[in-house]
Amino acid sequence: MDNLEKLKAAMRGKRIHLFGPPGCGKGNRSKDLAALGLVHVASGIALRTKVRDDPDSELSKKAQACMESGALVPDEIVVPVVMEHLAREECRENGFVLDGFPRTKAQADLLFEEVDLDLVLHLDVPRNFLVYGVVEGNRRACAKCAAGYSDFDPPRTEGICDRCGGEIILRADDNAETIKKRLDGYDTETRAFLPDLEARGIVEVLPIIVADDEDIDEKYLKTLRGEVYRVDTGDGTTARMLNLDGMRGRLHRFLTEKFT
Ligand SMILES: [Zn+2]
Repeated sequence: MDNLEKLKAAMRGKRIHLFGPPGCGKGNRSKDLAALGLVHVASGIALRTKVRDDPDSELSKKAQACMESGALVPDEIVVPVVMEHLAREECRENGFVLDGFPRTKAQADLLFEEVDLDLVLHLDVPRNFLVYGVVEGNRRACAKCAAGYSDFDPPRTEGICDRCGGEIILRADDNAETIKKRLDGYDTETRAFLPDLEARGIVEVLPIIVADDEDIDEKYLKTLRGEVYRVDTGDGTTARMLNLDGMRGRLHRFLTEKFT
């Protein structure tokens, strides 16, 4: 068995929660974990599945009404729907990666009444990096399928989506002010309950940034318009960020050490 197959076998049935601020790459790490066999679970996925598979239930009707109005779906709907999703056979057998849920302490407390996790993986990244990354990277998205692009990960042909051929547009909500607001919300609602998770002894940090003095092949680093991307860490030094391949490699090494 090669190393990747060994890792996949070791990951079977594992229950992992990805913890980190908006823009830290939870979506991409979820894809990496799904490629190792875990089921990707986010609150939106669980809600849409519930509405599709059980349309006549009270929960589905309430969830659908919230989603259609664009309102935030309240905990008394989201939590039971996610729990039900996690109890599905595919999640029990293969394990799962929880992407961005629980988002609040109330959700976390309810979740832990019924679910044990093997690992909370904290994708730690200084705030500067997230703000600069969005603004300097000129983040934009496909108007048709919502695939994300930026100067870090540009489309093959500028203005045209690689995936669906749709038009790529700037998102009105991707500017420094709204990013800062989203990060403030993360700090007060989500980051605030990290100590509770740490007290359970299940949190481990997976750093996204690479110090300037760390020796690393440039092919694993994020570049912006052809140059290795550097951001001020706020303490008089700069650091670099891992790109998709760099992050996947670091994740695989971490999981291999922990679980095999
Ligand atoms: Zn598209």
